[in-house]
Amino acid sequence: MTIEWAAIDDAIRIDASVKSKLGQRDAVSKELLPDREEAEASTAAYAKAIDDLQDRLYAEGTRSLLVVLQGIDTSGKDGTVRGVFNRCGPLGVRVTAFGRPTDIELAHDYLWRVHQAVPRRGHIGVFNRSHYEDVLVAKVRNLAPREVIEQRYEQINAFEKHLVDNGTVILKFMLHISKDEQRERLQARLDEPDKHWKFNAGDLEDRALWDDYQRAYETVLNRCSTEHAPWRVVPSDKKWRRNAIVAATVHRTLEAMNPLYPKPAWKASDFKID
Ligand code: AMP
Ligand code: MG
Repeated sequence: MTIEWAAIDDAIRIDASVKSKLGQRDAVSKELLPDREEAEASTAAYAKAIDDLQDRLYAEGTRSLLVVLQGIDTSGKDGTVRGVFNRCGPLGVRVTAFGRPTDIELAHDYLWRVHQAVPRRGHIGVFNRSHYEDVLVAKVRNLAPREVIEQRYEQINAFEKHLVDNGTVILKFMLHISKDEQRERLQARLDEPDKHWKFNAGDLEDRALWDDYQRAYETVLNRCSTEHAPWRVVPSDKKWRRNAIVAATVHRTLEAMNPLYPKPAWKASDFKID
C-alpha cells in the first residue's frame, strides 16, 4: 500500500490550537485518496485487521475504544458502521444510536444516557449521533436556553477527559458532506421504494437550517477538539473514501493501543486433557 495515512490524518484532524475552517473543507477531497480500488482494498484489509485487534482488546479486558460518528442527515453514519465494523464479531462491538431523548432521559442531565452507553472495558463502542446533539440540534432548534448550551462545551470536554483518564480512547468523526450531495441522497430516499423507510419529513426542515447546522458544527470543532479527544472531519461525499479513512484511523488507533492477550499464571504443558 502506498497510501500516506499519516498525511491524511494530519489533513483531517482538528488540532486543539487551530481553527477548523469547516466552510473551506472540501467534502470530496479527491487529492487525499484518489484511487477508489486501492481505497476499497484498504478498507477490506483494515476491517479484518480491526477484528483481530478487537479480539485482543476484549481478551485484555482493561481498556476500551469509543468511536463517535456525527454528521447531518444522510451523511453516512450507518453506512460507516457497516463498512468499517462489518468484519467484527458481535461480542465486542456495540453500536448505540441516539435519537430524540425519551421522557426518562429528559428527566436526567443530558450526559446520563450517554454515560450508560460508553463501552465497557474490552469493548469498542460506536455512537451513531452522540452527546454532541445536545450542542447541535439543541442549539439550532432552541431546545435549551442559550446559556445552558453554552456551558455544555466545557462539560463535554470534562466528561471526555474523565473517560480518557479511565481507560477509554475516544475517536470523533464528523462525516462532512456537501449540500448538493445531501440533496441527491434525500432525493434517492424518495425515488427508491427500498429507501422510503429512511425518509423523514423532518430531515427537510433540518436541511432548511443547513447554515445554522454548519455553524453549530464549526463551534463544536473549535471548542471540543481537545488534546485528549480531537475531532476529525472526514470528506464524505464519496462513501468509499469516507470508509477507507475511518477504517484506517480506527486501525491505527487500535494498533497504537497495542492490546495484548493476557499471560496466564500457568503453563499449558502443566495440563493434560484425557
Ligand atoms: P436519525 O439519526 O435519522 O434516526 O434521527 C435521530 C433524530 O434524533 C435526529 O433528528 C436527531 O437530531 C435527534 N436527536 C438526537 N439526539 C437528540 C437530542 N439530544 N435532542 C434532540 N434531538 C436529538
Ligand atoms: Mg434522520
